[in-house]
Amino acid sequence: MKFWRSFLGLAGLALVAAAPQTESKSFLIAGARVADGTGAPLVTEDVRVQGDRILEVGKLPPREGERVIRGEKLVLAPGFIDVHNHSTEGLATDPLAETQISQGITTLVLGPDGDSPWPIAAYLDQRDKAPATVNVMTMVGHETVRSLVMGQDFKRKSTPGETAKMAELVAQGMKEGAMGLSSGLEYEVGSYSSTEELIALSKAAAQYGGFYMTHSRDEADKSFEAMDEALTISKQGGLPLDLSHIKLATVGVWGQAKKAVALIDAARAKGQDVTADCYPYEAWHSNIEVLVPNKQYFDAKSVDRALADVGGADRVTITACKAHPTYAGRNLAEIAKSEGISTSELFARIVKDGSADVIGHSMKTEDVDIFYRQPWVMVASDGGIGADHPRGAGTFPRVLGRFVREKHLFTLEEAVRKMTSLPATRMSLKDRGRIAPGMKADLVLFNPETVIDRSTFEEPRKLSEGIELVVVNGEAVWSDGKPTGAKPGLVLRRAEGAKP
Ligand SMILES: [Zn+2]
Repeated sequence: MKFWRSFLGLAGLALVAAAPQTESKSFLIAGARVADGTGAPLVTEDVRVQGDRILEVGKLPPREGERVIRGEKLVLAPGFIDVHNHSTEGLATDPLAETQISQGITTLVLGPDGDSPWPIAAYLDQRDKAPATVNVMTMVGHETVRSLVMGQDFKRKSTPGETAKMAELVAQGMKEGAMGLSSGLEYEVGSYSSTEELIALSKAAAQYGGFYMTHSRDEADKSFEAMDEALTISKQGGLPLDLSHIKLATVGVWGQAKKAVALIDAARAKGQDVTADCYPYEAWHSNIEVLVPNKQYFDAKSVDRALADVGGADRVTITACKAHPTYAGRNLAEIAKSEGISTSELFARIVKDGSADVIGHSMKTEDVDIFYRQPWVMVASDGGIGADHPRGAGTFPRVLGRFVREKHLFTLEEAVRKMTSLPATRMSLKDRGRIAPGMKADLVLFNPETVIDRSTFEEPRKLSEGIELVVVNGEAVWSDGKPTGAKPGLVLRRAEGAKP
């Protein structure tokens, strides 16, 4: 992109970030094809940004002395909103968030899978004091409040008194700015909770206009029961539902995406507000224990069945193992062979020695494609700063490059909608997610011919290509293939009492 570099060299776009009086100054992004976030067809238009907002959209002659960014051959979209992001710690250590802004992410939502910062107010205050390149939102986590109330004694259902205490904490989290309740029911602490407990906590979140986001109880053979439970919790809790990283991850449910879609479409047809998000990969990343739903980690039969269910031990690759660092980067079949033990023995050894993080290549492309085509499915990474899965650095450009340009799964406009207005609506963001006068100026300028992810399972943090410019709250944070250094990101709290 030579013309772009030379343009930046001349005009110094970074000055947009550096100039102290940006509030009053405007700049123009001229000649780009605008994907406004609603899914409407691309239109070549000029967009004027003044301060932190979009001032005008149309055929706009430059004002005298105004900075003009040429957007010919490029697409201008609203900033991407990632509703499932694990950067709670990462934002403190890496506020430039290069792996995030290089994908075009301008707002990220923390606290998914039941695990949120706490106290929410203290955490968000810290982010106010040490701003990042991106806007930040958070959920309040079910596991987080459950651990606060039950401590180490969590391997059981909660008592009514304990449930009431958790509900109070959820309410506190909502009052302090969380957007809703998240759960991770496949994980250790959350998995012992009853549906009734989750309904009670959902009611607490609903009082503040929150929604329920869930990593459901099972993403394997009992996927459909787990989806049913999520729909029940949302219905009885009286709040909208987002199914996190929708997937069918075992042989027993492979190829059944249409059945899952029908289940959700039926609920939507009855008026239930249900969305899902999905990362664009056939492999998941979690701890090794999630492979064995019955938790019988030392029972060879259970482990063998679990490994067969995901398509075999060679489909499970270790990304990190503290006790056995040499296991990293190798799959379970390979390691077991070289150690001269069975895969179930290897599994037991790893769990006993303190677990490991693994990647499981256990989804079917056809299922991922079917989910992605649904109008209620958003793009979300389940990644974040420092992620060991390529989704952490590649999700959004991967959808634009591989799903849109190469596979023609859906239109570019629809892809942008899944990254912008759809998540903005889910997050009750009224002034982001679209390009229109008066909206906050979170913008992404990208090249639709070259945009692509470069992160791989071997090099998960390799930056994406083709994202030319990223603007957050009216300031450039990414241009010329690197961060500008500006950190205009804001904490976006739910307004108290606000309803979606
Ligand atoms: Zn999850």
